[in-house]
Amino acid sequence: MKIARFQAEGEISFGILDSAEDGRGIELVELAGDPLVAGFDTTGRRLRLEDVRLLAPVLPRSKVVCVGKNYADHVEEMRGVTGGDAPQEPLLFLKPNTSVIGPGEAVVLPAISERVEHEGELAMVIGAIAKDVPEEDALKFVFGFTCANDVSARDLQIKDGQWARAKGFDTFCPLGPVIETDPDLDDARIVTRVNGKVRQEGRTSQLIHSLARIVSYASQAFTLLPGDVILTGTPAGVGPLVSGDTVEVEIEGIGILRNPVR
Ligand code: MG
Repeated sequence: MKIARFQAEGEISFGILDSAEDGRGIELVELAGDPLVAGFDTTGRRLRLEDVRLLAPVLPRSKVVCVGKNYADHVEEMRGVTGGDAPQEPLLFLKPNTSVIGPGEAVVLPAISERVEHEGELAMVIGAIAKDVPEEDALKFVFGFTCANDVSARDLQIKDGQWARAKGFDTFCPLGPVIETDPDLDDARIVTRVNGKVRQEGRTSQLIHSLARIVSYASQAFTLLPGDVILTGTPAGVGPLVSGDTVEVEIEGIGILRNPVR
C-alpha cells in the first residue's frame, strides 16, 4: 500500500494510491486522518493524483535519525574525506525535523557552503513507540518506507568534525513521494540521478547493517516515536549539486523523489 500526504483546495490530507476508477492514471483514496494515529478509514472521496500537490509523506514528530557509512563502496569513496573503515556498529547522527521537505520542493543551497552533495537513501518511518527493541522484533515498529536525500554540505562536514550543521540545514532532508507499507527490500535497486544522469546506484542487499539492526540499535539510544524517520545510508557516487539541478532518488517498489536545487 502506498500512502501520500497531499494538499488539495487548501486542505492537507492523507490518501492511499489506487488505480483510477476510469482505468486512466492514479487516484488517491482520501483517509479520514493521519494513518499513523487514525488507521486506514477512508472518507470515500477520490482525487486524481494530478489534481493534488504531494507533500512530505510524514513530518517527523521528534527527529530524523541517520546512519553514516552503511554501504561498503561508499565507505571506500569517503576514506580520504571523512576518514576510516566501515564502522563495526551503526554510526548514528541526527537531522532536525526542520530540514524535511517534500517532493518538488527546492533544496536551497546555503550561502556559507561551497560544496553541497546528494546522498540518496532508503528511509524507514517509525509506526509505534520503540525503546530497547530486540532485532528480531524491530521491523514490527516500522510503519513503512520512503525515499530520502541526505543532502550534505561536505565542506562544512569536514570543517566542523561534528555533522549537525552540515547535514541539518533547512531543506536538506527531502522525503517522499509516498510511504510504501510493504515493499520487497531484500534486493531493491536504489538510484540517484542528477539532471537525468545516474550518479549513485546500489541495492538494499548491500547494506552493511540491516534495517532491523539499525532500528534496534537506534532504540537503545533514543525512544523512537511514531513519525520519526531513520535514513539508512547511501551507496557510492555522492557528488555536488548546483543551482538549477534536478535531483532524483528512486527506490524500486517505492517511487521517485524529485527535487529542484536553487
Ligand atoms: Mg547519508
